[in-house]
Amino acid sequence: MDPYRLPRNVVPTRYDLRLEPDLQTFTFAGEETVTLAVREATREILLNAVELSIERAEIAEGSGRTLSAAVALDEASERCRLTFAEPIAPGTWRLRLVFRGTLNDKLHGFYRSTYKDAAGRAHTLAATQFEATDARRAFPCWDEPALKAVFASTLVIDPALVALSNTAVTQERVEKGRKVVRFADTIPMSTYLVAFVVGELEATEAVSVGGTPLRVVCTPGKQRLAAFGQAIGAYSLKLYEDYYGQPYPGDKLDLVAIPDFAAGAMENLGAITFRETALLVDESAATHAELERVADVVAHENAHMWFGDLVTMSWWNGLWLNEAFATFLEMVAVDAWKPEWQRWTTFGVSRSAALLVDGLHSTRPIEYPVAAPKDADAMFDVLTYEKGASVLRMMEQYLGADVFRAGVRFYLERHKFANTETGDLWSALGEASRQPIPAIMDGWVFRAGYPLVSARLDAHKPDAPAKDLHKPDAPAKERGCELVLTQQRFTYLPQPPAGEKPSADAGTEWQVPLQVRVTAGGQDSVRRLLLKEREARLPLPAGFEAVLVNEGGHGFYRVYYAPDLLLRLLGRLDALAAIERFNLVNDAWAAVLAGLMPLTDYLDLTARFRGERDKNVWAVLTGSFASLNRIIDDADRPRLEALVRDRVGPVVAALGWEPKPGEDEVTRQLRGDLLRALGVLGNVPGVQARAAEVYAAHQSDPSAVDANVWAAVIAILGHAADERRHDDFLGRFKSAKTPQEEQRYLYAVAACRVPALVEQTLRRTLNGEFRTQDAPFVVRTLLSSVHGRAAAWRFVQEKWDEMNRQYPATGLRRMCEGVTGLATPEWEGQVHRFFAERKIDLGGKTLRQYLEQLRIAVALREREGANLRRYLAK
Ligand SMILES: [Zn+2]
Repeated sequence: MDPYRLPRNVVPTRYDLRLEPDLQTFTFAGEETVTLAVREATREILLNAVELSIERAEIAEGSGRTLSAAVALDEASERCRLTFAEPIAPGTWRLRLVFRGTLNDKLHGFYRSTYKDAAGRAHTLAATQFEATDARRAFPCWDEPALKAVFASTLVIDPALVALSNTAVTQERVEKGRKVVRFADTIPMSTYLVAFVVGELEATEAVSVGGTPLRVVCTPGKQRLAAFGQAIGAYSLKLYEDYYGQPYPGDKLDLVAIPDFAAGAMENLGAITFRETALLVDESAATHAELERVADVVAHENAHMWFGDLVTMSWWNGLWLNEAFATFLEMVAVDAWKPEWQRWTTFGVSRSAALLVDGLHSTRPIEYPVAAPKDADAMFDVLTYEKGASVLRMMEQYLGADVFRAGVRFYLERHKFANTETGDLWSALGEASRQPIPAIMDGWVFRAGYPLVSARLDAHKPDAPAKDLHKPDAPAKERGCELVLTQQRFTYLPQPPAGEKPSADAGTEWQVPLQVRVTAGGQDSVRRLLLKEREARLPLPAGFEAVLVNEGGHGFYRVYYAPDLLLRLLGRLDALAAIERFNLVNDAWAAVLAGLMPLTDYLDLTARFRGERDKNVWAVLTGSFASLNRIIDDADRPRLEALVRDRVGPVVAALGWEPKPGEDEVTRQLRGDLLRALGVLGNVPGVQARAAEVYAAHQSDPSAVDANVWAAVIAILGHAADERRHDDFLGRFKSAKTPQEEQRYLYAVAACRVPALVEQTLRRTLNGEFRTQDAPFVVRTLLSSVHGRAAAWRFVQEKWDEMNRQYPATGLRRMCEGVTGLATPEWEGQVHRFFAERKIDLGGKTLRQYLEQLRIAVALREREGANLRRYLAK
């Protein structure tokens, strides 16, 4: 028997649930009546429960005959076994359970969140986070996504508080001094989507979206930060009703900001919960990136109301169906809402994060068999979200947006209120497109990795001698010449690291939808082809000038150009769209990490981007400089700083410190990003001094400084901070008026280079001064910082047990990603020993992926360290 799946002889159809949380003692009392369909006679019923004590269990049939059960809880398997003295006959039964539990502080199940008000008084609220398998911590249940049921909930609370759940309140009364709040029945849905929030909460005025009231809910005093989130909430809800061709499946929608929240947000039907930075924002004082984050997360969660909530994966292996679609539609909605944000170009940054992990030998397919819940938790990663969404985007572009949407509509209509497998999506898309979808898509979803498409010219034609073709600046007169495109799997390391098996399907080809733009005689033409074999040849027209593979930038693959083809492209960067330039630089940097391109060639290439004005292209460039910063010796760091100044300086000089009238939002973000790069990575004293002036001026007139510049100023001063500045920032972190301000000061505190202050910051990650939702990320930042990593790594080794106790599991897992920055052979050895000796398992392949990323960084140091030093010394 599968130890993780419940038998199907008894399944629930309805839960009548009553919970009474006590915010003083951090406990709750619960009662539930579960309507069961018993399919075969049984003396035993198995369901999920953990960290609950079940005080009574009895079952009744229609006639009223009641049998009581013996209860056995098994904490290890998170199951509860009810045994009856006589068999329960097939039919409908009502199981009544009385239980108690704890409002824990681990940010999962039914948990407590504490926060301080403006006057510094502490308050507590209770909230839930059930995905993937933590509903069983709040009430005994059949905690599997396929076992959908109707939930009819009642919360019994302190009359001074407010209670929320998935549906509207149908009745509220006071009983024995307690407020009894009853909620409407839900649609049939999975346990992981049930939500409760109880506390001192305020709600905005509802806006009606096609009849659905939509509100933002937060702790008192924060309503002024709700307008932006509510606006994208309303916009995306309307857009999805049109896109999906299905009405919103709930009766109301609350977007709820929770002061302590482990993930970014959670798509509970009708009661979406968020960490505060992902929902609450002061539009006039926020950077573009901060606004984009709120828009993204709200649009993402709303998309789930259909993809995930109305139609749900049958089991956790299909999680990508939820997450990839929500990520894809988040882009569709935000791009439609704010076209000037060029959201699909910025999506290149997300795609590149997926290409990074998926280029590891220790990657995994988007979908793979999942047995244990722990492995499902490890699925919440860039492969599920970003690779999944990239693959959908590639498919949408290949099939055409209208055809793709028609397939999505078929799928939702056919499976609403039910559960699906990936094959169900393939057949819906197949019907809409009349294309063999599984043949194309299976390689992207069920296989690990992705192809490197190499492009070269083939000169072996009688009238095109080879020696001319490989001269970089040869005039383009290769009449009758061919473009040769080949595919092979891309990996950074030529061989799998020790302990990693080579992939079983090595050598199998992907079906790669290619868009190739050929420029000849001053004219562009786009060729579309499906590369199925290892190699394809395209005849090139007379007057051939250049070729760009992955035209439009939607493909989930990398391109490697033969040197002459690359030079042709670099000579005409102006003719490339921003996403195409992004991919060009990103693929070139990956080629360096993989040992396919010399680092010095890449550094030469970056010199051609001094005039670049796209923030995403700059994100790759500065990201690669930051990686070099982690492998360079301390003594050589000033020379790398000089290179950063040389590359970044010209654009900063042109942009200045103040926005020009009429300037768009993304340019203002670019200014902030580059000032920060110059002041931190470039370590430019003049920039740091100017930042101090701006900071002083801001005290008298905050509105005088653009938010993007302001955020950069805080980051730069955090990096340059002495003790006085550090203490000032710590104070401002504690008294911050918006979640964004709080984060800026928190990470500025973490950026300080003074060793004694780094130690203080590390201590604060465990003494309660930083929230456990943030503390692991602060440690991660320090582990990846060249100034903090030695101390942070010592601290992690010493305090691991304490971290393991305090931090939510997701936070701990993300924290460990910081070890990828410990890029020396000595540290690498220590990291391996530490994780092995402690037998630390972060779920799935997470730890192996971190170790392989560390290997790539150390290998880069070993291979290119001396070349880098020589190049910088020139
Ligand atoms: Zn999601």
